[in-house]
Amino acid sequence: MYKKKVLVLYELVCSFCNKEYTHKSSLSKYCSKECMSEKARISTGANITDEYPKIKKMSVWKISEILVSVDLMQKGYDVFTASSPSTYCDILAKKPGCKIIEVEVRSGYFGESGKLSFSKGLRDSANCYAVFVRNTKVVHYLDKNFKKIKI
Ligand SMILES: [Zn+2]
Repeated sequence: MYKKKVLVLYELVCSFCNKEYTHKSSLSKYCSKECMSEKARISTGANITDEYPKIKKMSVWKISEILVSVDLMQKGYDVFTASSPSTYCDILAKKPGCKIIEVEVRSGYFGESGKLSFSKGLRDSANCYAVFVRNTKVVHYLDKNFKKIKI
């Protein structure tokens, strides 16, 4: 018994560049990997990194750490950063009458959907994320469950 296999191609329009293309799945949304990743970069807000295209990743992180430190100091905290290269959190901050907060610094973006994107994964003992949002230049604080917290 011989079955003839027929390849069906759907004629589609790319959701990013509006170019017409064909694909074997009717669910395909983008004409190319480039269109798909550019759409993702825009929707997460990551496309704004082009603002500092030549700055190395560690320098971007250090800028974020400094800006988070400044933000905490402006809120009345004494801020302690690490001398040792491998620590359980990035910043310790304390103000009178409050317990020490152990901060993990991240840089992130607000995307088209209004969702905050940043690298997750908290080291064991840190108890909060401080996300320096690069497209709004504002620091957002979140707990271990990614709920916004007031600092
Ligand atoms: Zn396209």
